Amino acid sequence: MQGTFTCGAPMNLTINPTRLWQRLNDMAAIGATPAGGCNRQALSDEDYAGRQLFEAWCRAAGCEVRRDAVGNVFARRPGRDAGAAPVMSGSHLDTQPTGGKYDGVYGVLATLEVVETLNDHALETDHPIDIVVWTNEEGSRFDCAMMGSAVWSGGLALEAAYALEDLNGVSVQDELERLELIGTAAPDHNLQAAFELHIEQGPILEASDKPVGVVTGVQHMCRYRIEFTGQETHAGPTPMSMRRDPMMALARFLTAGYEIADAHAPAGRMTFGYVHASPGSPNTVPGKVELTLDLRHPDADAYQAMQQAAEAAIERSASEFRVDATYTRVWEAPGVTFDNTCVQAVRDAVAATGLPAMDIVSGAGHDACNIAAVAPTAMIFIPCDGGLSHNEAENISAEQAANGANILLHAMLNAAGGR
Ligand SMILES: [Zn+2]
Repeated sequence: MQGTFTCGAPMNLTINPTRLWQRLNDMAAIGATPAGGCNRQALSDEDYAGRQLFEAWCRAAGCEVRRDAVGNVFARRPGRDAGAAPVMSGSHLDTQPTGGKYDGVYGVLATLEVVETLNDHALETDHPIDIVVWTNEEGSRFDCAMMGSAVWSGGLALEAAYALEDLNGVSVQDELERLELIGTAAPDHNLQAAFELHIEQGPILEASDKPVGVVTGVQHMCRYRIEFTGQETHAGPTPMSMRRDPMMALARFLTAGYEIADAHAPAGRMTFGYVHASPGSPNTVPGKVELTLDLRHPDADAYQAMQQAAEAAIERSASEFRVDATYTRVWEAPGVTFDNTCVQAVRDAVAATGLPAMDIVSGAGHDACNIAAVAPTAMIFIPCDGGLSHNEAENISAEQAANGANILLHAMLNAAGGR
């Protein structure tokens, strides 16, 4: 059975779009890059400056700011019932080295805007509200995406996070200590609801002309390392039919792979992002070809079917050309189905605002995946220009930002019991 939150908040309540847009611009000025993006990598001086600005805004909005042992930030607006489970919403402030202005930041500042709006209208909620900033979501400086939320949810040991090092040998613990970001807040998984508002980072909402995506889950994803091994020979004297050429097997396998993706269109994804031939000489038949396959699908059965078909195609392609093949699934992230009650809170918010929306499955991983493992969670997407993200040209309009924040406002009010 599907539950619903009860909500007595005014249906026509809206956030202040000017304030939200100004704050997005103010945050983007920290670590701004010449090409119009941001470089605030996790636990850098720029990340620290962004956190300081955010925390100052939160304190000015009457929130109590706490941090946990891995530097995750929780800014609380009290509820009517201090003992009630909080409604949590937020995302991350760190960026890729050549990142955009909105990835993560938007979800954090839109949640702060929700709190400001409640303050403007002197609206109390039954449940407290926590604005959350997760440490090192991007995993670019320290190679572990969604690190802070993984520690919080228990999926990653604190010691393992502390030990992660950047390319200069500086560890997460070094930086947390240098920046004095280690706090004492204990992880509390007893949440009434959790939300994450994010730019889509893909082209579907824009192409569908929908300002809001109700995210029902995150697709299953895995990564394979594959090797085809044959025999190096001279490119001239060896007839085609007498070679053991792993590149021929690769050609057959790539064709088969794209056919598998086609058979599972439009949801299935196959990406061959890395291909390397050895020894890499123009007049030598390669002895070895290495590649990666990134495979994704939102449906568990179809995902498994794609994996089986891909593995069979590797073996078939290898045997056809008398080469050897090995493959290993080196990484896998199971898909997430978001909580019915939280998704319904988003749907009710869509109804309250009258904005056109569509259901969507996230193609990328988010902190919300980790939260969903321990607490009821849902996500909201807004479109971004051309679906472009992890790019300095990442862009949204002030109106698009306001649309998503208004959905978040009503979804949070639904969950927090706003009046
Ligand atoms: Zn993000």
